[in-house]
Amino acid sequence: MRRIVLRLFLILIFTVSALAGNAAEKPYVIIVSFDGFRWDYPDRGITPNLEKMTSDGVRAITFEPAFPSKTFPNHYTIVTGLYPQNNGLINNRFFDFFKGRQYRVGDTVSVCNAYWYKGEALWETAERQGVISASYFWPGSEVHLSYRHPTYFKKYDGSVPHAKRIQGIIDWLQLPAEKRPHLLFLYFSDTDTYGHRYGPNGQKINEAIRLLDKQIGILRAKIDSIGMGDKVNIILLSDHGMTQLKPDGKILLFKILKNKNVRVDGYGPLVQFFTSSSQEKQAVFETLSAKAKGFTVYKKEDIPEYFHYKNNPFIGDVVAVADLGYTFIRTPKELKKMEHRHPMGDHGYDNHTLDMQGIFFAAGPAFKSGYRCETLHNVDVYPLVCKILGIVPNQKIDGKLERIGFILK
Ligand code: AMP
Ligand code: ZN
Ligand code: ZN
Repeated sequence: MRRIVLRLFLILIFTVSALAGNAAEKPYVIIVSFDGFRWDYPDRGITPNLEKMTSDGVRAITFEPAFPSKTFPNHYTIVTGLYPQNNGLINNRFFDFFKGRQYRVGDTVSVCNAYWYKGEALWETAERQGVISASYFWPGSEVHLSYRHPTYFKKYDGSVPHAKRIQGIIDWLQLPAEKRPHLLFLYFSDTDTYGHRYGPNGQKINEAIRLLDKQIGILRAKIDSIGMGDKVNIILLSDHGMTQLKPDGKILLFKILKNKNVRVDGYGPLVQFFTSSSQEKQAVFETLSAKAKGFTVYKKEDIPEYFHYKNNPFIGDVVAVADLGYTFIRTPKELKKMEHRHPMGDHGYDNHTLDMQGIFFAAGPAFKSGYRCETLHNVDVYPLVCKILGIVPNQKIDGKLERIGFILK
């Protein structure tokens, strides 16, 4: 009898300590986004902290965005594992003509409206399974439905200093265990802003590259200083690259379509046309095809599969994609505006082009070290993070763990 009691006691001790051990070992993942940080910026010899990430962890040669290579569609692809046609954000700005509503990045009402966001974001998957999450800025993290946003999140304000954002992450990591997030998000926009303003090639963009490289160094040093350096997995990525705009790359849509009163949506490298009959659709397609210099035009049903950009009701009947460096101008008013504001760089183009590729670095206990690999795809980050956190991914995703899982230990 006494032996049975002793044995039960030992089993109890073993179980309790195993559970306590597991709790202490629960992994951490921080996803850091450098907006518009092109794949080749780390090779300019001005990013010592990225070099350190490479030797400590994993670096992919390029990181392929989803189409269109714009900010919101891609940040939401990263957290849902769904292409934009399935995650709902088919552009930074688009219409639901059925309901007469518009989604627009600068409009806080639409950005906070869960109506637009399809699929399940990483923070939803995590929180449902008991993993607390936190976001210091991430597209889609501010939706009003309480069960669709992270426990902790900040309303987007681009003027918040870098140091404050980083300290926000550190403060969250120091919360008592029962309140502490294990999945965190952090965002910086400087390389996108400078890339648009000065282009990706000159000296000016290097200032933004240096500045953001410094931030990842500061973040890692601070994590070390609170004794969590060997516990935290950091994934540093970007949503897309950047290309130089051609001085003569303006496609004047209002001149091409002069007699056609067709509904046009979109801007910059991607526009779409909503027609009211198959005859109108054919006419718009033919008119654009006849003048297709610097762009390619598709009927919706003929958009190549590799764009994964077709199966969504808000995509137009005809879609036009500009070649690198070209940009659509819809109205004379828009053209006039461009005279005062001369952007030098842009993105949103074919996501397979080299200029649209972003970066992917990862370091921490889950990752191999000193491991360089081929192109990774941003749609695969969702299942990767689920794997690290030990949570069950949503089954309805486009991402594939088998295309990225080899970077784990
Ligand atoms: P774009 O270059 O048009 O694809 O978008 C980049 C811009 O999106 C950045 O310069 C930011 O100002 C803006 N942005 C990024 N994240 C957010 C967010 N969570 N909420 C609102 N605006 C954002
Ligand atoms: Zn972006
Ligand atoms: Zn941008």
